[in-house]
Amino acid sequence: MKFAAAAIIAIATSASQALAFAPISSQQRSTSLNAVLSKATGQSSMDPAVIARYDALPYPDDSILAEYVWVDAIGNTRSKTRTLPSKKTESVDSLPKWNFDGSSTDQAPGDDSEVILKPQRIFKDPFRVRSDGKANILVMCDTYTPAGEALPTNSRAYAEQFFLGKEDEETWFGLEQEFTLFNLDEKTPLGWPEGGMPSREQGPYYCSVGPENNFGRAITDSLYKACLFAGIDISGVNGEVMPGQQEYQVGPCIGIDAGDQLMMSRYILQRVCEDFQVFCTLHPKPIVEGDWNGAGMHTNVSTKSMREEGGLEVIKQAIYKLGAKHSEHIEIYGEGNELRLTGKHETASINDFCYGVANRGASIRIGRDTQDDGFGYFEDRRPSSNADPYLVTGKIMSTIMGPAEPEIAPMDREES
Ligand code: ADP
Ligand code: MN
Ligand code: MN
Ligand code: MN
Repeated sequence: MKFAAAAIIAIATSASQALAFAPISSQQRSTSLNAVLSKATGQSSMDPAVIARYDALPYPDDSILAEYVWVDAIGNTRSKTRTLPSKKTESVDSLPKWNFDGSSTDQAPGDDSEVILKPQRIFKDPFRVRSDGKANILVMCDTYTPAGEALPTNSRAYAEQFFLGKEDEETWFGLEQEFTLFNLDEKTPLGWPEGGMPSREQGPYYCSVGPENNFGRAITDSLYKACLFAGIDISGVNGEVMPGQQEYQVGPCIGIDAGDQLMMSRYILQRVCEDFQVFCTLHPKPIVEGDWNGAGMHTNVSTKSMREEGGLEVIKQAIYKLGAKHSEHIEIYGEGNELRLTGKHETASINDFCYGVANRGASIRIGRDTQDDGFGYFEDRRPSSNADPYLVTGKIMSTIMGPAEPEIAPMDREES
C-alpha cells in the first residue's frame, strides 16, 4: 500500500487538513519556524509526482530494507533503517544486533552512549512496498547495554520472565487501543471547532457514520490495512465515543507477542498519522474539561483453562487475584490514568476495584457470552491508552498465576 500524497489530498476531510497541502506564505513560514510542528512538514508539502518518481525505482535484488523499531525512555517508538542481504532477514536469529545513540533518547549517558538493539519480532513493512514480490521489513527490537543487560526502560525483558515456562497456559490477550486525533495545532481534536467544543454532546459519535459524526475514518482504515499487510493480528476498528477518537483491536495474541504486536501497531499508527499530517495522542484524558470520554487500552484475557468447560470459575479466581493487587496494577496501568478512571464515562473509580457481568462501569467486565457459555475471557478495563502493553500483560500474567485470594462479590448491571 502506498500513502501517496495525491490519495491523501483526496481524502482529507476538514478544511484545516486541506490547508496542510496549500503552499505556505512567507508569513506562515516565519511563524512556523518556532513551532514544534509546522502546518506543512514532511511528505504532504511535496509534489506527489516527485515522490512517485522515487517510489517507482526498483530495489536491488538481494537488498532488504530493515527498519529497526524500539521503545524509547518515555514509551514512544523510534526507528532507523539499514540495508541487509536478504538471507540475513529470514528470522530474528539471523538478523544482526544493531545500536543507537542512547544519549539522544535519554536511554544512556553521553560518555557511554551506545545502546544495543536486539531483534525480537519481524513484520512486513507496509510503507516501503516493493513490486518485485519481496518485502522490506519492520523489526521490533528491545534494548540492552553493551554488557548485555536489559535497560531499565526495557519492559519487554521484564515482562518476558512471567511468560517463560508458562507456554502451556496459552494465555491470549486482545488489546483495544483507543487513540485521539488532533489537528497539527495539538489543541483541536478532529471535527472540533477551533478553541471551542462540538455543539452536540457525546452520543452520536461511537461507531458512527456521516461527516458530522465520524472524524478520522480514513486514518483508521489506512492503519487497518497497513497492519494487515504487516502481519499484525488486527481484529477490528471502530469510531469512539468522543468525536475525534478512534479504536482498533489487536489480538488475540499469545503471551509476549501481544506486546510486540501492539507496540508495532502503535509505530504504524504514528507513521500513518505522519503521512496524513494529523497529530495523534495516546493520552488517557486528552480533553479534561466537559463531559468527554477518556481513552483506554482495555485488555481482554484468557488462559486455555478459561476457554474450556468450567472456565468461568477459573476466570473468577483470576479476578479475585487481580482485585487483591488492584493498586499494584494501577501503578503500571499508564500515566494520567487518574484523570480517566473517575467512575464516570464508562470507567470505575481508580480507588476501588469491582467486577461484573456486562458492566462497563466496572474495573473488570465478564462478557455476557462468557457468563452464558460458562467459559471464555474477561476484560480488564483499567489500563489507559498510553499504558505499556508489555508491563500490562506481564503484570496480569504474574498476578493470575499467583496464589488464590478470597472471593469478591460481583457488581452486575444490565448492559446499557
Ligand atoms: P469491546 O466489546 O469491549 O469493545 P472489542 O471487540 O473491541 O471489545 O475487543 C475485544 C478483543 O478481545 C478483540 O481484540 C478480540 O480479538 C479479543 N478476544 C476475543 N476473544 C478472546 C479471548 N478468548 N481471549 C482474549 N482476547 C479475546
Ligand atoms: Mn472495543
Ligand atoms: Mn472502546
Ligand atoms: Mn472494551
